[in-house]
Amino acid sequence: MNILVLGAGQLARMMALAGAPLNLIVSAYDVRSGDIVHPLTLQPLGHGLNTAIAGADIITAEFEHIPADILHQCEQSGKLRPSAQAILTGGDRQIEKALLMQAGVANAPYRVVYTQADLEKAVDALGAPLVLKSTLDGYDGKGQWRYRDGDDLHALWAELDAFLSAPEQRDGQAIIAEAMIPFDREVSLIGVRGANGEFASYSLTQNHHHDGILTLSVVRPDEDALQTQAADMLEKIASALNYVGVLAVEFFDVDGSLLVNEIAPRVHNSGHWTQQGSACCQFENHLRAVSGLPLGPTDLIQPTAMINILGQGSVPLATYRDAHVHWYNKTPRPGRKVGHINVTATSNAALATKLASLASYLPDDAFHGLKSAALALAAQTD
Ligand code: ADP
Ligand code: MG
Repeated sequence: MNILVLGAGQLARMMALAGAPLNLIVSAYDVRSGDIVHPLTLQPLGHGLNTAIAGADIITAEFEHIPADILHQCEQSGKLRPSAQAILTGGDRQIEKALLMQAGVANAPYRVVYTQADLEKAVDALGAPLVLKSTLDGYDGKGQWRYRDGDDLHALWAELDAFLSAPEQRDGQAIIAEAMIPFDREVSLIGVRGANGEFASYSLTQNHHHDGILTLSVVRPDEDALQTQAADMLEKIASALNYVGVLAVEFFDVDGSLLVNEIAPRVHNSGHWTQQGSACCQFENHLRAVSGLPLGPTDLIQPTAMINILGQGSVPLATYRDAHVHWYNKTPRPGRKVGHINVTATSNAALATKLASLASYLPDDAFHGLKSAALALAAQTD
């Protein structure tokens, strides 16, 4: 079966690797160049989007910031899974927040801001502190501002106004002003829904960020109450979107109650641990769901953590047995996601020990938060 993936980054690459044994052959559409490329070598395959759409059995996406006209063209072919509406929802925080309200899942209170008066009203209604996010094109903490009590609201508006009225700005750009949630921690859930409504989810994952970028995800298999809450919320969102494929949801944990932060209508960085931690990883399950195959098992087979490699050309782990390194074939640049390391162990306590030991191999300034997360995990498993 031929699968066309919209987007040609590491997620398309890992879908291709997971699909090959099932004879699910992936080609990738590089949105920037307009080329259809091989997902591993990124070499152009010599034909354009129209030919690729005609030749594909199924079309899916590896990221949500895809021009609407391309999504609609793919949808016209009857081959796009999930739907254009689901992908566009994940790519526009305004539509996304409306969906969360409609699906009845808890999320941070918000207002939409187009003007200075809107911003003032948002501060009146929501108070401070606030997180402000661009509705379009935000990722890895980009397109975000903070407002704290006592900050100069005029200066903030000047910044937002300059952003909104920049000549290269996309039509429909706006700002979501959101109450800043005093969360205890951030967790996420990766779910998968088949075309027949069959639904499964992986174990809840705890996520650590630095400067808005995910640095570390640790699977949390023993959190039954939160797992059930998260799965219920994810299933509600998936049903509201009549979703097919892998759907990721990020949550804030506030004293044992979850609020949805955002959704991603695709495979997700916080699900990369499933490559070693589960019998059927998120990439294979996404391809299974969109191709109409039965879903694979999502059970946890061993405690696993995922460490992002950001901007490093190499990692000193050649002798480290339980560290599974996945490179993305990308040129390192500061902060760029160029690979990840999945660390496996036979128990949570052993995982904590391995993370602590890895933290001594890996440079602190490149692997932010690893040492403290390892210590925190060790303390929880004592
Ligand atoms: P991105 O698309 O960049 O991942 P997010 O909405 O997930 O955007 O925001 C990035 C990070 O910013 C979150 O992981 C969280 O740490 C912080 N953040 C976002 N919204 C809020 C909020 N309402 N309250 C507190 N922290 C927030
Ligand atoms: Mg996020």
